[in-house]
Amino acid sequence: MAKRFSTKGVIVEMTGDEMTRVLWEMLKEKLIRPWADVNLETYDLGLENRDRTEDKVTVDSARATLKHGVAVKCATITPNSERVKEYKLKKEWKSPNATIRAMLDGTVFRSPIMTRNIKPSVPSWKKPIIVGRHAYGDVYKNTEYRVEGPGTAELVFTGRDGKETFRQPVQEFTGPGIIQGIHNLDSSITSFARACFEYALDRKVDLWFGAKDTISKTYDGRFKAVFETVYREEYRDKLARAGIQFVYSLIDDTVARIMRSEGGMLWACKNYDGDVMSDMVASVFGSLAMMTSVLVSPTGVMEFEAAHGTVQKHYARHMKGEPTSTNSMALIFAWSGALRKRGELDGTADAVAFADALEASAIATVESGSMTADLVRIADPTPERTCSSAEFIDAIARMLASRWG
Ligand code: NAP
Ligand code: MG
Repeated sequence: MAKRFSTKGVIVEMTGDEMTRVLWEMLKEKLIRPWADVNLETYDLGLENRDRTEDKVTVDSARATLKHGVAVKCATITPNSERVKEYKLKKEWKSPNATIRAMLDGTVFRSPIMTRNIKPSVPSWKKPIIVGRHAYGDVYKNTEYRVEGPGTAELVFTGRDGKETFRQPVQEFTGPGIIQGIHNLDSSITSFARACFEYALDRKVDLWFGAKDTISKTYDGRFKAVFETVYREEYRDKLARAGIQFVYSLIDDTVARIMRSEGGMLWACKNYDGDVMSDMVASVFGSLAMMTSVLVSPTGVMEFEAAHGTVQKHYARHMKGEPTSTNSMALIFAWSGALRKRGELDGTADAVAFADALEASAIATVESGSMTADLVRIADPTPERTCSSAEFIDAIARMLASRWG
């Protein structure tokens, strides 16, 4: 097997904060640099540098991602009022993930990393379930009103020309209650659908989508119609050639079928369904540290990361000089995901093979009983000892050397 290799095209690297920043350097030094000359364009998304550059670095990193097509991102702090004090920030900068997602017009897909000694709590789930969540609109961008007493609620639409084109009663209230107005955009639903078809093709898995179009004929009906149009006009032939299917059914039927399935599909979810179901799927598969995340644009640009945050509590221990047992699996899979994608785009087989070897080594390490505390709690059989953050990466490095070196 090949040993040292170089990547051709650029991978955009976004560094981050706290414990994940520490793990990031460790895993690059021990798992990547010994084998690969990666053509990196690095943007320091650590909070201090975002503050120093007035968050320009985040925008630059997103632009670079659009240009080069592949990025790998470390977890970053989303500032709140406490962080503003802690880091003496000029202001409460926006979430970098939100900025990048908006610039890529992207959808986030999360998938679990599975090992034989950590069993999903749904026994029939044998393969990963990837959840894709639409990240625009619905109840997350709503207008709500607390009705205090009797009165009429109406839905009104007025065109740009000032002409009222729609007016319908929502409810004739005889006492107190609540109302909510929500919306979505054809452009956003179309981008979401395209990102889902792109990622299903990339991963070679069936795409499932469910909504409630029997009850919500216009609103959810629009989601169904957009998915069917994008499928028919842009993806039917591509999916057929890849041997994968697009399946639409009602959301309740989809949920029931997912529970009875053996997994292995991409489940596209409306915003609220994705919020709720991604947490359910994550907990069934065990640990947030075993959950990968990839942001996919409607044109197939990809940014790979871990689903978890900067693991602030572990970082506090690390800074006190105490040992930590933080799991780097999802960060490692962010790197392997980016290397594989780069290799596929450049047609460089060694980058793809290395990504496969890195993932296989990481999984084999956990299966051999070397793991961090979060997994020790849920593994069967229970391992005899717990690895520190560094010991775990060292164990993977040895496994990788035996397979790749
Ligand atoms: P977190 O970093 O996801 O950690 C929450 C808890 O989950 C940890 O305290 C730890 O539990 C467990 N955990 C998460 N990742 C782990 C890993 N790799 N290994 C072992 N255990 C792990 O969430 P947070 O502490 O609420 O947030 C910290 C910062 O991350 C915040 O500033 C937030 O803004 C940011 N954040 C960033 C992203 C991103 O960049 N994508 C996502 C979410 C949050 P125990 O303490 O029980 O061991
Ligand atoms: Mg949620």
